[in-house]
Amino acid sequence: MDRYLQKTEEYIKLYSQKIGKFPYKRFAIVENFFPTGYSMPTFTLIGQQIIRFPFVINQSLPHEILHQWFGCSIYVDDSRGNWAEGLTTYLSDYYFSEDKRMYRKNSILKYMAYAKDDYPLTQFRGKIDRKSEAIGYGKTMMFFYMLEEIVGREKFYSALNFLYQNFRFKRVSWEDIKSVFENEYRKDLDWFFNQWIERKGIPDLQVSVKDHTLKEDGFHIKLKIKQKEAYRIKLPVFIETYLGMEKHEVWIDRKEEEVEIVSQDEPLRVIVDRDYQIFRKPYWEEINPVIHFTLADRKAVVFLSSKDIYSPITAYYTEGTLKNPDQFSFSDIYGKNVVVLGADNPVLEKIFGKKLPAEDFVEVFKNPFGEDKVITVFNLSSNLQAKMVAGRIKHYGKYSKIKLNGFRIVEKSVKNYQNGMSS
Ligand SMILES: [Zn+2]
Repeated sequence: MDRYLQKTEEYIKLYSQKIGKFPYKRFAIVENFFPTGYSMPTFTLIGQQIIRFPFVINQSLPHEILHQWFGCSIYVDDSRGNWAEGLTTYLSDYYFSEDKRMYRKNSILKYMAYAKDDYPLTQFRGKIDRKSEAIGYGKTMMFFYMLEEIVGREKFYSALNFLYQNFRFKRVSWEDIKSVFENEYRKDLDWFFNQWIERKGIPDLQVSVKDHTLKEDGFHIKLKIKQKEAYRIKLPVFIETYLGMEKHEVWIDRKEEEVEIVSQDEPLRVIVDRDYQIFRKPYWEEINPVIHFTLADRKAVVFLSSKDIYSPITAYYTEGTLKNPDQFSFSDIYGKNVVVLGADNPVLEKIFGKKLPAEDFVEVFKNPFGEDKVITVFNLSSNLQAKMVAGRIKHYGKYSKIKLNGFRIVEKSVKNYQNGMSS
């Protein structure tokens, strides 16, 4: 508990500096029975089952403490959408994450897995499932990231200061947030709030290089950019040349347009939004196959093992189709999410042309026969271990592979895929 006290003091100091003086004279952390965090004025509840995990002290604790500002001092008027979870996530979970680019990309992958059929932020009230989490925490977190990118860090925090000074113990809506930021920015932000909050869906871009010509002032690169639905976006464009990486920025706002960039040296490669600064649909080549995709689809096709140990895993796929390996045909896996039980399952040789190692693991691959679909292999050695995996796997959604030793998860990793749209 000592570390908790010390960290709590640190977080309170930090947020007092960034947003405004701590709203209360006292503060308590109370262990509770439920495995989640929950905040009320002057205290926070943190579940006893999770209090020992490192992410709790580094991310959940600051999150719950920050609710003393957003939620407990400034109340949320969520009749037209709850903005507080996304803002709190941005300034705590995201702020303290080690790999910020991966955090942003993860929020996009999570959205792709759970919220393909989404709704606008104006309809988010609170977390009830993974889909609402991907929208109300993930997309809203990225909303505030992108807002800071537009208005600049200084104005972003002065707007939050103003909000805190002037709206304490009042109910604040998205509309209020917008007017506070517009006042600081001294420019209209209607377009920004409209496209990200009122609309459902996310931008879907296609970028191609038309040509490049050498002129007196450098190489003129013409990019053709298409959008399914028009968004106004400040798009980061990286040009790789023999001299290194050049960073450029272009504004787009139409369904189809051409932009020109001048680079100092001959362009070898153009990479658009390399660091996931825009909440957009990634190319298939950019998608890391992760466990989220497995968890998102209970209708998967499941190829059973000859070993009778996987019942806790098959139980998850309540709407799935269970098949024996000898029933395999390629039409079964075409355009579907697939689960294969057992590394020695003969189905694997038919799909990948090889067997997988005999260690205990869960691993997600891209389905070579289905855009946006994955193949997940479970190789476990007992029913008890399968039970443990079924219970805990939801905490490992952002990984492509977990390796087990008995009941311990000894390794977790993400498969690397291309970052950014490149051509
Ligand atoms: Zn929260």
